[in-house]
Amino acid sequence: MSGDATRILVLNCGSSSVKYRLYAGRDAVAGGTVERIGESGGGPANHEMALREVLAGLDLTGLTAVGHRVVHGGTLFAAPVLVDDAVVAAIQDLIPLAPLHNPANLAGIEVARQLLPDVPQVAVFDTAFHRTIPEAGATYAIDLAVAERFGIRRYGFHGTSHAYVSRRTAALLDRPYEEINTISLHLGNGASACAVAGGRSVATSMGMSPLEGLVMGTRSGDLDPTIIFHLRREGGFAVDDIDDLLNYRSGLVGMTGDNDMRAVLRRRAEGEAAASLAFDVYSRRIKGYVGAYYALLGRVDAITFTAGIGEKSPEIRAASLAGLERLGIAVDPQRNAGSGDRVISPPEAEIAVCVVATDEELEIVEETVAVLEHRQLPAGTTQPVPEPERPKALS
Ligand code: ADP
Repeated sequence: MSGDATRILVLNCGSSSVKYRLYAGRDAVAGGTVERIGESGGGPANHEMALREVLAGLDLTGLTAVGHRVVHGGTLFAAPVLVDDAVVAAIQDLIPLAPLHNPANLAGIEVARQLLPDVPQVAVFDTAFHRTIPEAGATYAIDLAVAERFGIRRYGFHGTSHAYVSRRTAALLDRPYEEINTISLHLGNGASACAVAGGRSVATSMGMSPLEGLVMGTRSGDLDPTIIFHLRREGGFAVDDIDDLLNYRSGLVGMTGDNDMRAVLRRRAEGEAAASLAFDVYSRRIKGYVGAYYALLGRVDAITFTAGIGEKSPEIRAASLAGLERLGIAVDPQRNAGSGDRVISPPEAEIAVCVVATDEELEIVEETVAVLEHRQLPAGTTQPVPEPERPKALS
């Protein structure tokens, strides 16, 4: 990245929290989280109050830009964009697709524009990296007219992480990013897999929403939609209750009562059956996606683990890739037990298995600077979209 003199504020406004980090060049010089926004008992009343509080506590002299994390860019945004009124309107139009996230992201953008009117604001979308997924990978096999009308398609999420991690993997292996195929496994509270061919996302496990795909801390990931009809018809569940069940009371927490993988690992080591089953369900799902993405990519150069669990759990890494030696995939126990960004496959392995610490904030900084300089990051991120069309289905 050019210009170590840049000062970028990264804002990640969630429904009840604001995470912020101020960067000088690539160095984080300040940061923190304001929580419990809008909750009774202590937190700031709304995002505006929270942001005022954040900005008042920071030295913003010479601020170059603000980079905002925005969860849903729909089909409109294939790259980060400079925020203007049209972009704000487009993010607003996408609220039905991300009712929890986009309103909070938008509040952050609007307050920052108001409080810092002379500072360029850049929106960086979680979905943008996945706009290169071919139609066959983005289309759900339902009535296409219904799908079109309601914006039903695979958008994918965690794009900033998958972009950052796949690029870092190329650097770690000293290979050109444009030439390698990788499978990245982002295993945090949310979790997703992504197949990246030559710097472009070609498949990802999260779909229209972050619910699909891998098993997560509180989300089920893949399941048979009939489960929803069954709970509705036979169980008398309301739609909102099912939404709550699948998004907040499933996954690790649903199977064990704990959404923290550390607790699951400890309980499994103590021989508890539910924890052991949850571990197996979790790692078997990952293995299935690795196999599927291997087949889609045709050739895999690297498999990279990232985020809390991916970076810190040798047990999950080993179990997820166990028995895949015939595919050229193996994990070296000693390397797996180490720390830091590294290759954990044996030296002779055909496919490099890697651990790379993700840094979504730094990726937002780099993408923000790239937008200001009117250039693209290598591969992956595509052309900035100047004048977004309002989505017909949603307006
Ligand atoms: P988020 O998705 O909220 O950014 P993280 O990427 O930090 O979250 O991942 C959170 C997950 O990482 C939790 O399930 C937590 O239990 C897990 N985790 C953190 N440290 C360890 C560890 N040492 N071993 C196993 N899992 C860990």
